[in-house]
Amino acid sequence: MNPDDFPIEANALCEVCHVFGERQWCLATSGNFSARVGDKHCMITQSGKEKSRLSPEDLMICDLDGAPVDRKLKPSNETPLHSCLYKLDPGIGAVLHTHSASATVLSRAAGAEITITGFEMQKAFASIKSHDEKINVVIFDNDQDMQAFARRVGQAWDDGQFTVPGFLIRGHGLYAWGKDIASAQQHAEGFEFLFQCAWQERLART
Ligand SMILES: [Zn+2]
Repeated sequence: MNPDDFPIEANALCEVCHVFGERQWCLATSGNFSARVGDKHCMITQSGKEKSRLSPEDLMICDLDGAPVDRKLKPSNETPLHSCLYKLDPGIGAVLHTHSASATVLSRAAGAEITITGFEMQKAFASIKSHDEKINVVIFDNDQDMQAFARRVGQAWDDGQFTVPGFLIRGHGLYAWGKDIASAQQHAEGFEFLFQCAWQERLART
């Protein structure tokens, strides 16, 4: 099993990487991107690959415990966060992780979550029907122990803390997911737009 077995998903994931890379949401080989393939695996970016130039051979297959099928390849360090999301919800088909400047600084300026309201863009999330609704985005403290981090994400999931399809990591970036690559891209773009607006509003008030 390798990414060549799933050319549609591999090409679509590369396309998202190129778009997000051009927007400077994953500079210096940061960020990682994945899509579910079959019932027991996901396709994910290999560690240390430049996203704006990503090609299908820079992807690899891991099982849902984060273990690579091809042991010679090194998956992203954050693969446990992707695999835990796939295990938490069989309806998740793709997980996209960005390191944008606005998500990074906003996550450092807020507490355990940030509330966003009043923006039409909130409707990028299917569960949100009006700009008047309040979106609460969970913010986790950063952690280099990804297995422990994945357990914290699982606990927050079980506690029902995720009311929109994504979360922030403080000083680090955004995780967003969706039922497929296109919906995960829509959610990531919605979050990133809202974070830019929220950050610029804070700047305007100072
Ligand atoms: Zn990261």
